[in-house]
Amino acid sequence: MIEIQNVRKSFGQMEVLKGIDLTVAKGEVLTVIGGSGSGKSTLLTCINGLEPIDSGKILVDGTEVHAKSTNLNKLRQKIGIVFQQWNAFPHLTVLENVTLAPRKVLGMSKGEAEAIAEKQLRHVGLGDKLKTFPTRLSGGQQQRMAIARALAMSPDYMLFDEVTSALDPQLVGEVLETLKMLAEEGMTMICVTHEMAFARDVSNRVAYFHKGVMAEIGAPDQIFGAPQEEVTRQFLASVR
Ligand code: ADP
Ligand code: MG
Repeated sequence: MIEIQNVRKSFGQMEVLKGIDLTVAKGEVLTVIGGSGSGKSTLLTCINGLEPIDSGKILVDGTEVHAKSTNLNKLRQKIGIVFQQWNAFPHLTVLENVTLAPRKVLGMSKGEAEAIAEKQLRHVGLGDKLKTFPTRLSGGQQQRMAIARALAMSPDYMLFDEVTSALDPQLVGEVLETLKMLAEEGMTMICVTHEMAFARDVSNRVAYFHKGVMAEIGAPDQIFGAPQEEVTRQFLASVR
């Protein structure tokens, strides 16, 4: 479970998270929507400890992410994160890229890491690209490789930050299908996305972020069908 308790965070004078309270249960799929600059990416980077917070608490399975005593490297192993773009090592094959972290971070043998990497690459539909170099992949295939790379660490949680935003429109679907598959398998996920149909279709809950505040959270039917807040209504009208 991920527990976010009254989290505040500023960059310089600008407060970008203004007291966020949010709990994501095991097996839940939460999507986060909201305008540019509303704090969505910052929230994800705070959850896995890439960014410090100013006050409040974030607990992952009861471990306080920002406590001095927390072993962040260990904690991050259970939280996979995939961004809009991941620059894979161009001189390594797809398989080698995906085995890197299990070998270096988890200390797996080459064979062990390759078995897991191959399994995850097949899982995301890249079983025939193991020996291919990343630059030969389409954008959608590269994003699926990035997902396989995160999954190869056997995370308990996955955070996705606009993973389809940099893709050509015809490649968006294959990546969303991969996310949907993970959701159906019971992965606990937080997905920041602009894909409203995906949010409506796949999430258990949708959170709308507005200027550093979680303005509204609820079931997809509520957020998209009967939003309670005027700011949510305005945002949804602007993206439709
Ligand atoms: P979103 O993902 O919702 O578009 P972000 O979380 O990326 O929003 O950013 C929230 C605000 O914080 C924005 O105004 C952004 O410019 C600012 N910001 C994000 N990261 C940094 C940073 N590392 N240093 C300074 N300002 C930042
Ligand atoms: Mg962002």
